[in-house]
Amino acid sequence: MASRDPLPIDQNHVDCWTRVRDRLLKEYGEATFNSWLKNIELDAVKGSHVLMSLPTKFLRDWVINNYANRIRQIWCQEDPSLQSIDIQVRETTTPVQEIQSPEATPPESATVIPVEAGMDKDAQDSIASQLDPRFTFENFVVGKSNELAYAAARRVAEAKDTIPFNPLYLYGGVGLGKTHLMHAIGHAITENCPHKKVRYLSAEKFMYRFIRALRYKDTMNFKEQFRSVDVLMIDDVQFIAGKDTTQEEFFHTFNALVDQNHQIIISGDRSPTDLEGMEERMRSRLGWGLVADIHPTDYELRLGILQSKVEQAQIDIDGRILEFLAHRITSNVRELEGALNRVLAYSDLVGRAVTLESTQEVLRDLLRANDRRITIEEIQKRVAEHFNIRMSDMHSSRRARAVARPRQVAMYLAKQLTSRSLPEIGRKFGGRDHTTVMHAVKKIDELREGDLSLSEDIDLLKRMLEN
Ligand code: ADP
Ligand code: MG
Repeated sequence: MASRDPLPIDQNHVDCWTRVRDRLLKEYGEATFNSWLKNIELDAVKGSHVLMSLPTKFLRDWVINNYANRIRQIWCQEDPSLQSIDIQVRETTTPVQEIQSPEATPPESATVIPVEAGMDKDAQDSIASQLDPRFTFENFVVGKSNELAYAAARRVAEAKDTIPFNPLYLYGGVGLGKTHLMHAIGHAITENCPHKKVRYLSAEKFMYRFIRALRYKDTMNFKEQFRSVDVLMIDDVQFIAGKDTTQEEFFHTFNALVDQNHQIIISGDRSPTDLEGMEERMRSRLGWGLVADIHPTDYELRLGILQSKVEQAQIDIDGRILEFLAHRITSNVRELEGALNRVLAYSDLVGRAVTLESTQEVLRDLLRANDRRITIEEIQKRVAEHFNIRMSDMHSSRRARAVARPRQVAMYLAKQLTSRSLPEIGRKFGGRDHTTVMHAVKKIDELREGDLSLSEDIDLLKRMLEN
């Protein structure tokens, strides 16, 4: 680092720079860091002024516009005697080749801002290499929340000579399968119609390609590339909301493709009408074809997805663990998959089968975050209603089976549906001991095996409590 610099830099500043870099890496993540910040070199520190450099003007401008403030703040925090920074373009003979090619990055990291010198390598791009092989229709589990989006995606993928709807606009919250469906469409089309030219990219990547084309005065080529495809898929279109020139270019590309009767597929995190910062004409165009939203998952779908994952991976795991995860990790599918992977990795590491206990232990933080704050009181109330006993019986010391059993069910549900500890649960049940709760959980677990009607009661209660 900074080895080119003929001026010696104070070792303190060199160390400080290492810390600044570490923090930048942590804050922005590896992908962004590697694309933008990795090539910053420390050139000199003059008084309270830090001088750094980057190999190209484009890089420098981007970093100045997007990261300079934060870089300055971190410098000042690490060494309060410093007050200002500047980043110059350094004169060097072989800078740009060192910069990572974005084509090497997988599609999910399309958020990475790719910087390349010279001409585009798009001509050599094959769509297959940009698509995640796991994201196929076969691997997509269909449920109520995503059936419309799935059916629409299939229709588009299977259409031979007609365009069923243009554009297909898929929207929904993060981690609900939008990218998965788009890749699945890509796989299916390249399989069914190998002659078709398919392009998939994130709106972000579209923007960087466009900016780069502007910079290299290569916009003709850019336009040509995008307007000659048969199927264009742009993921996370909300990214270009508020980015006016990119939006304008996208609008023209969009119109050109629609005019030629070529298929466009767009995803976004919200409906076209809700895209703030998007021009009205663009919003209305996005809604021209079919708009399909993906809703948050329900329990059945989450369980289905988990089952399909373990089946594919041929992993033997207690069904109750999957049920537990499907009940408790409700945020989105990405987190659900992450949770399963963590549990499996842990069991692999310690060489023991996964248990409910270890699952709760390993996922403590995630479970907290996903806690839909079902309260113990709520559980008690529902259970009391369901079994026709008084709420006060949840706290009482009556031991008659007619009240003791429902009370045990409530404790069992409290353990399953909240992240309260056994002693905490005990306290809420008239100050019972944690061993009583433990016993109740075990007892109900055992009874569920043989008692179908109890098992159904419990499932019903769970569903009611979760909705
Ligand atoms: P989005 O693009 O909506 O943020 P992704 O498509 O990236 O979400 O999905 C996140 C993860 O969840 C991916 O690994 C994807 O394979 C998985 N996933 C989402 N929905 C489903 C589903 N219905 N069946 C199987 N896997 C799914
Ligand atoms: Mg996505």
